[in-house]
Amino acid sequence: MLRRSIATVVTGLSIASCGTNHGETTTAFVGARIIDGTGAAPIENGVMVVRAGRIEAVGTAEFIDIPEGAERIDVSGRTIIPGLINTHGHVGDVLGLEGGHYSEENILRQLRLNARYGVTTVNSLGGDGEAGILVRDAQDVPTLDRARLFVAGPVVTGDTPGEARTVVDENAAMNVNFIKIRIDDNLRTTSKMAPAIYEAVIDRAHEKGLRVASHVYYLDDAKALLYAGTDFIAHSVRDQAVDEELIELLVRKGVCYSPTLTREVSTFVYEDVPDFFDDPFFLKEVDPKAIEQLEDPDRQRAMKDSRSAQHYKEALEVALSNLRPLADGGVKIAFGTDAGPATRFQGYFEHMELALMAEGGLTPMEIIVSATGDAARCLGLDDVGTLERGKWADFVVLAENPLDDIENSRTIESVWIAGNEVPEQDRSKL
Ligand SMILES: [Zn+2]
Repeated sequence: MLRRSIATVVTGLSIASCGTNHGETTTAFVGARIIDGTGAAPIENGVMVVRAGRIEAVGTAEFIDIPEGAERIDVSGRTIIPGLINTHGHVGDVLGLEGGHYSEENILRQLRLNARYGVTTVNSLGGDGEAGILVRDAQDVPTLDRARLFVAGPVVTGDTPGEARTVVDENAAMNVNFIKIRIDDNLRTTSKMAPAIYEAVIDRAHEKGLRVASHVYYLDDAKALLYAGTDFIAHSVRDQAVDEELIELLVRKGVCYSPTLTREVSTFVYEDVPDFFDDPFFLKEVDPKAIEQLEDPDRQRAMKDSRSAQHYKEALEVALSNLRPLADGGVKIAFGTDAGPATRFQGYFEHMELALMAEGGLTPMEIIVSATGDAARCLGLDDVGTLERGKWADFVVLAENPLDDIENSRTIESVWIAGNEVPEQDRSKL
């Protein structure tokens, strides 16, 4: 953990407790390499000045005046990146490996977990209730020290266009950020939402000023949804190689594509004991009971024998090979994991996703931009995602440079949200 190297300047009787921003404190983070999330070259020997939770100035040391009385935090030799933004997560339902625990307390617990892993914003695409709305509405404050949350509400379904429109209206009345639909037959085991229904959902959502995120699997569905006006593709195309038509549609309509590669991993990786079960970066947060359950030989055998698990293992390869052509075609890739459901471990899986994106051929800079500046843009968020003047000071201090190797995203020394240091885990609350 990073410790403050120079004493806090204390005025009057107020005492700035460690890591807490009381609105008036000005803090200068001094000496780090700063990757701002825009794709610009890193700032070497940077200074970032934070006041009232927001970035007041950022640049090289020679051009930034540190205000008198500011607290200085020495981060020389480190790299600062914007906090990671998961454009496709799910928050609040799971405890251990068990679903059905949706509550404000569980949402907050998971947002703190995300924050400790450097994920400072989660866009929850489905399964959200009123508690999620309450949590979202409480976060625009300079005292925040957990991940920000945006929500889609319940996934929209319906047997008729009218039924589906009613669900859109209910979600809009909840004041959700997104509308989420699923167009998939789950490897030909269920029936897909019909075009007439998703067209009605998309049109009604747009009337309500809401954007629609679509779960897809097949290339043809992705194209049909783009023609129908979807605003976000929430998974990789996994049945075949992407083609020029899809790339042209995504670019022309300005629609982002979220790969969620770790979703596929979670479908098959527990057929054996995964390598990460002895990774300290995983073990520091996981509930040991979850590991025990996932190492159960019956469970492993069931996964090995599962047709869908073996199918999704191949689907991951297709998803990986689709990434570089999409990026080369100019498609905005929105970092997303679909973490949150049982066995998709929030926080840890986001770092696994970054590494898989590299396996899919993206450069470390492309991956960082996808997970920060572009992720924010894809979600329509304009005060997070990059380290620029006026944005919330949501960022991660890394010991090693992630441009050398994206796996250096794991070398987290500290995480800051609205300029507040995210507290370490309280093991007693596990
Ligand atoms: Zn999802």
